[in-house]
Amino acid sequence: MIITVASGKGGTGKTTIATSLALLVPRAQFVDADAEEPNAHLFFHPTIEQTIPVEMMAPEVDLESCIFCGKCAEFCQFNALAVIKDKVLVFPELCHGCGGCVLVCPERAMREKQRKIGEVEIGTAKGMRFIQGRLKPAEPSAVRIIREEMAHVSDGLPTIVDAAPGTACGVVETISQADFCLLVTEPTPFGLHDLMMAVDVAAELGVPAGVVINRSGARDRLIDEACEKRGVAVLLTVPFQRTIAEAYSRGKCLVEAFPEWRKALQKLFDHIQQGVAR
Ligand code: SF4
Ligand code: SF4
Repeated sequence: MIITVASGKGGTGKTTIATSLALLVPRAQFVDADAEEPNAHLFFHPTIEQTIPVEMMAPEVDLESCIFCGKCAEFCQFNALAVIKDKVLVFPELCHGCGGCVLVCPERAMREKQRKIGEVEIGTAKGMRFIQGRLKPAEPSAVRIIREEMAHVSDGLPTIVDAAPGTACGVVETISQADFCLLVTEPTPFGLHDLMMAVDVAAELGVPAGVVINRSGARDRLIDEACEKRGVAVLLTVPFQRTIAEAYSRGKCLVEAFPEWRKALQKLFDHIQQGVAR
């Protein structure tokens, strides 16, 4: 079973929930799919045993063969190519590696070359299998990194995936591979707005979802009412407490700093497991 912990908005406490769930689920493995800014290692201090480079195709032009017809640039939907007089400009950061420009070139002047966009690290942490992705700075999309991470997930082990914040392509990829999507939010108008975007993504992908309200307080009704309207259950609330924030800032997982939270998180996991098994 794969549980993806996501959040429409950054800074809602997604990693707090994901790391604690992973610690209490027996035989769990953990995937940090926030490849632009992985931070679960700060809580788990993993030992990395394997590093796998992740590459992506980038076009390369043979100017000897090129007739500067512009067909490649016309085809490219991502503006990664521009043909100006006798020059073909390539912007590798914009390329999504579809290979279309190679296919449409009438002179076979366009070739594919691989370029490294990041890496996947695999190791162990606190007795768990630990996988994390790292996207190189300025690279636009973590999708390939996330696919590579998920390709190394061991079959048969419960998997907790910490997704990136937001609802961009990488998050869509992460949720699409999940059996359940746990959405962590905060009871603010921004939190609600971005939560509903994430609820839409999960619904569109046909992945069942539930909500955790972090920093719960007087404004929870904002989230409760919207979730009720959308038919998404609020499965857990975590109060707004300075001690929880302090433990987080010291790199302590919720269930390590406050073992009394084990029961509530276990109940949350059991609820998800029963729902998925149904
Ligand atoms: S399609 Fe081929 S020949 Fe035409 S401009 Fe592009 S690389 Fe050159
Ligand atoms: S591979 Fe696709 S995205 Fe990349 S430059 Fe060619 S057409 Fe554009």
